[in-house]
Amino acid sequence: AKANGGRGRIEVHDEALSGGDVDQLQLESDLRHAVDAGELRLFYQPIVALADERLLGYEALIRWQHPTRGLLPPGAFLEAAENNRLTSKLGAWVLRRACTDAADWDPELRVHVNISARHLAEPGFSELVATALEESGLESGRLELEITESTALFAAEATLRSVSEVTASGVTLALDDFGTGYSAITALHRLPIHTVKIDRSFVADVVTEPSTAALVQGLLQLGQGMGLEVIAEGIEDEEQATWLREHGCTMAQGYAFGRPAPLPPREPVEQVATPA
Ligand code: C2E
Ligand code: MG
Ligand code: MG
Ligand code: MG
Repeated sequence: AKANGGRGRIEVHDEALSGGDVDQLQLESDLRHAVDAGELRLFYQPIVALADERLLGYEALIRWQHPTRGLLPPGAFLEAAENNRLTSKLGAWVLRRACTDAADWDPELRVHVNISARHLAEPGFSELVATALEESGLESGRLELEITESTALFAAEATLRSVSEVTASGVTLALDDFGTGYSAITALHRLPIHTVKIDRSFVADVVTEPSTAALVQGLLQLGQGMGLEVIAEGIEDEEQATWLREHGCTMAQGYAFGRPAPLPPREPVEQVATPA
């Protein structure tokens, strides 16, 4: 709803100076500073085997320990990071931190790292992964990168190249929020997916809504039929866990098994230089 002519231009100018945009710019610059100031944290949430609740690994989830606003969840700041320089700065920090942390764990345990679509498509992404593995000494088979269906669906040439380089090194890919994108099937077909994570919006209703139950059964069958690992996300109670176990789901994550939590503090990881 833009007005036309000179009046429209004035309105556009006014919008650019409105409070929302100023806040956005402030958030971006604060976030840029936060990486260097060591204000970012990774919390880790357990991923378990549904049969016996054995620990299989952890998903790394970013938090910002903001000097005045307290501990911020990714929903409060990740969107502000979706510009080129900041995306790779943040993504590089997360990858290096997660690999360094995981290298200290029991070698049976894997680490899952969320990757933004934008970062995955950037040149140098697979080199960054290689560097993070090499510096930390983490074995490549212990790293799983989580991408969303939209990333997979709109996979550009650069993304496909990064993905094939990274998976050739032994790193695996998980399709996050499975079932919520436009085409889970297309994504599964186009990319070398190892694991699917059934979105927690489905898990939330699986016991109470027959149509959701049918949908989840379909997702489980699809994943299993394709020989993929399937993780149910967001399991909050024993009823949901039982339903999923009885319907053949083998892996789970959710408050019922553990909330995201910090690991004991360690030395800060030096920031990778990003191109100007
Ligand atoms: P996600 O990758 O789907 O991560 C799962 C989210 O569900 C996490 O939210 C987690 O705390 C939450 N969760 C897990 N179990 C339960 C449960 O039983 N009940 C409920 N209500 N929630 C549960 P969080 O940490 O706020 O992260 C939100 C999203 O932000 C993530 O969704 C992921 O898409 C993104 N994200 C988090 N860390 C990073 C990161 O380091 N890099 C990138 N690019 N994205 C990240
Ligand atoms: Mg995830
Ligand atoms: Mg998810
Ligand atoms: Mg999600």
